[in-house]
Amino acid sequence: MCPDRSRVVPKVSSGGVSTPAQRLSDATFRALIENSNDAIVLFDPALNISYASPATERILGYTPGEIVRIPSFDLVHPDDVAQLRTRFEECLAQPGKPIRAVARIRHKNGSWPTMEGVLTNFLDDPHVRGIVNNYREITESVRAETALRESEDKFKRAFRSNPNAMSITTLAEGRFLDVNDVFLRTSGYTREDLIGRVSLETSWVEKEDRTRMLRCLSEQGYVEAMETSFRGKTGAVLIVSLSAVVVEIGGVQCVLTTSQDITGRKRAAEKLRRSEEQYRSLVELAPYGIYRATRDGRILMVNSALVKMLGYDTPEEVLRLNLETDVYEDRSERARLLQKVEAGPASPIETTWKRRDGSIISVRLAARLIYDSRSRVLQTEVFVENVTEQRALEKQLQTRQKMEAIAQLAGGVAHDFNNLLMIIRSRAALVIADASQPENVVEEAEEIVRATRRAAELTRQMLAFSRDQVLEPSVLNLNNLLAELGNMLPHLIGKQVETRIVAAPNLGLVKVDRGQFEQVVVNLAINARDAMPTGGRLVVETSNVEIDGHRSDSHPLMKRGRYVLLSVTDTGVGMDKETQAHIFEPFFTTKERGKGTGLGLAMVYGIVQQSGGHISVVSAAGAGTSFNIYLPEATEPEQIEQADQVVPAPGGTETILFVEDEEALRKVGADFLRSKGYDVLAAANGLDALHICRTTDRSIRLLVTDVIMPRMGGAELAKNAVALNPNLRVLYVSAYSGRALPRGALKPGQSFLQKPFSMANLARQVRAMLDGKAASEQQDDAQPQLKSN
Ligand code: ADP
Ligand code: MG
Repeated sequence: MCPDRSRVVPKVSSGGVSTPAQRLSDATFRALIENSNDAIVLFDPALNISYASPATERILGYTPGEIVRIPSFDLVHPDDVAQLRTRFEECLAQPGKPIRAVARIRHKNGSWPTMEGVLTNFLDDPHVRGIVNNYREITESVRAETALRESEDKFKRAFRSNPNAMSITTLAEGRFLDVNDVFLRTSGYTREDLIGRVSLETSWVEKEDRTRMLRCLSEQGYVEAMETSFRGKTGAVLIVSLSAVVVEIGGVQCVLTTSQDITGRKRAAEKLRRSEEQYRSLVELAPYGIYRATRDGRILMVNSALVKMLGYDTPEEVLRLNLETDVYEDRSERARLLQKVEAGPASPIETTWKRRDGSIISVRLAARLIYDSRSRVLQTEVFVENVTEQRALEKQLQTRQKMEAIAQLAGGVAHDFNNLLMIIRSRAALVIADASQPENVVEEAEEIVRATRRAAELTRQMLAFSRDQVLEPSVLNLNNLLAELGNMLPHLIGKQVETRIVAAPNLGLVKVDRGQFEQVVVNLAINARDAMPTGGRLVVETSNVEIDGHRSDSHPLMKRGRYVLLSVTDTGVGMDKETQAHIFEPFFTTKERGKGTGLGLAMVYGIVQQSGGHISVVSAAGAGTSFNIYLPEATEPEQIEQADQVVPAPGGTETILFVEDEEALRKVGADFLRSKGYDVLAAANGLDALHICRTTDRSIRLLVTDVIMPRMGGAELAKNAVALNPNLRVLYVSAYSGRALPRGALKPGQSFLQKPFSMANLARQVRAMLDGKAASEQQDDAQPQLKSN
């Protein structure tokens, strides 16, 4: 029977019982030993090797013959000698008891492999008479583990109860020798899970991190607060701050690590970073300019909106600027802002800034002070809103509103004044027609008529401004209009001014009142002449333009689209800003008494507005002036104009109801129509007139009525009267345009006559309507057809 190693040798090596050796014969015993894979040496009482089994050579390199000649403790690593001696003493004191011992033994090649042996004292056994050592080489980790197990309690306690996670691994392989409870708790492993396993398999998330730690250990002997991540049993990743040192345990190089879980701290930091990022993007992408500056005006931080607002390309360029001198138009404004915020929470201030290209912008600044811990002002933080466009728009709106109010006033005055003029003129006409009047009286009356004509022209201009004049718009090409005017202009403005007309080819059509636009050009040309008393050049130019919101001189209230631009430019004295702000107001003039009326541009403004256009002026004192009129391009085809037909002013015998609240005007109108042979009934308001319609036995053919009257106005009267008599024709009369009538008020057989009108014109219109020739036989037309003389 050949007993196998696993059954026999352990009995010897572990030495649990001594009886088997006693029962075996010497020869058998020897054979067993000699054939064993384990090495066995025998020590004599002086602890020198008296016998070594052949396996010795495989394990330590020495033949049995060599090793017995070496003093045994010469083979032991100096650091292990003391420890090993203790083991031997224990062994000597307890015969038969196996004592475990671990030590580094010098290999023949000079290395120091670790051997684990079991010493058993058989000195008293007559068959053995020695100490048997059954030994084998053990791995480093086993050795360190062993040493660790035997290490001092002091260290163990410190290790186990440490509040940080700790581990001991072999330096070479990273095999776990021990871990403390905190390590187990944070990683989720049990001690059995880890001991003997390699940390790269169980713990490290990044292989390189371990390499990094080892490099650091070999370079400086320790690692401090290295950030790395460990995986726990469940796969969850912990971020830790790792410290490590190399320690030698049982002669084995080991790494003692302490790691602190900083996952929470890291996450908080990450959260902070992300929220900071959010705030940064809030500032960066804000539509408002934001900056921080020192008290002396050094800019510390700007956002992109501010860079753009100031016309620079990069924040660096802006950071180089000095606020006070490079940004504020008026440097004292910055001090004003600071004073205001230092006095307490302040509402924003508005001021002006310079852009890189020198242009000026209006900005609204909301500032805040930033204090240090001792309440000293450190910085100012300012939010900037560019309000340039807004302010320009407001100014335009203001001007427009002011003009509207003035226009209303002017229109009202012109209206009342017209009535008076008509009375004066008609009365004078009656005097002239009266054959019994002496010649000098007739001449005086003719003077009166001439003066009223001039006065009527003035009211016409005022009405044009107030936009209550009736327009007769037609679709036309401004170039044609200019071509005709071109012949006339030089006569009008004199030889010392060179006149040029620059007509754009393919000019878009516009829908305007031809007569009025001639007036516009003439007014502008006359002003230009006045601005060039010693000569110069006048250019009247047309062009097609597309408004897309980027033209700097264009009206901010203008809609996008295609426009025809008419510009009138002179090389005259020009105007300062203050003058420009008022030129469109009626009666504003800088000309001496008697030279200017101040109505020219007011009229131009009114006509342009009424035509759906816009006017702007570009000028500077001494630098000439340019008026730009933008007219929306018409979409309808061009209309061919017909020459006015002059209708004679005959009379008739039909019955006419003449309604007018102004007594003198009613009287003169009625008298005049009677003088033409008509049968005239007169009333002072709509109610009276309606009463007449209901009660008269005469057949009224035509109703001539003022539009705006007390008690019942013209439109309502006409409606009721036509209901009574469907064949009744209606002629409305008003100083206001046909727009004073409700929309759709003009029905077939109805027309409109604008005040002031001459009596002859009234007679012609009355006749035309009675004959059914009035050119107003159309539906729903708010633009009446007839114009005053
Ligand atoms: P008036 O010509 O009767 O003074 P306007 O309404 O035509 O009235 O013009 C108003 C004012 O505008 C003028 O008095 C003048 O100060 C100024 N103005 C108008 N056109 C020009 C121009 N082309 N060059 C310089 N100033 C002008
Ligand atoms: Mg003028």
